[in-house]
Amino acid sequence: MNGSRGRVRLATVWLGGCSGCHMSFLDLDELLFDLVPRVEVVYSPLADVKVYPEHVDIALVEGAVANEDNLRLARTLRDRTRTVVSFGDCAVTGNVTAMRNPLGDPQAILHAVYVEAVDRDPGVPDRVVPTLLPKVLPLHQVVSVDHFLPGCPPRAERIHQVLVALLDGRPLPDDRDIRFG
Ligand code: SF4
Repeated sequence: MNGSRGRVRLATVWLGGCSGCHMSFLDLDELLFDLVPRVEVVYSPLADVKVYPEHVDIALVEGAVANEDNLRLARTLRDRTRTVVSFGDCAVTGNVTAMRNPLGDPQAILHAVYVEAVDRDPGVPDRVVPTLLPKVLPLHQVVSVDHFLPGCPPRAERIHQVLVALLDGRPLPDDRDIRFG
């Protein structure tokens, strides 16, 4: 643990997902007060941190890997984090984010929409929005994952149960429960 006053350095990461998993995290409500003395949130969409920091203890990673920004961040967080948790069904399986996969490489569709179907200034946007990957991937197909926490979204009680087990250094609750939690 590298956090100030011995607190665990916690990151929550938002890749290709709807943020519903983060909303479920916030649904911990008063249970968050249990965690406050034990964790230091060092990176999160809930905090204004631009760069993923070094020496992170635990990362909850929501969402699938859908574009080049997701891919870069997934690799960076894996390099800088001791325990990576695939957080929610989009991270675990691709889920909703991967529903575009049967349509094939999105570049053909983007070309049809932004080049073939317009009269002025044709061109696929490539400056403000990150380039989409040919296929959406679950997190573990891009980097190694230490634990899976499925659910769409995972229930707040389950998030709390898993986080406390990790903080205590105890085995995680029964994997079958987690898988269907
Ligand atoms: Fe949203 Fe469900 Fe995906 Fe979480 S798992 S990001 S709640 S669609």
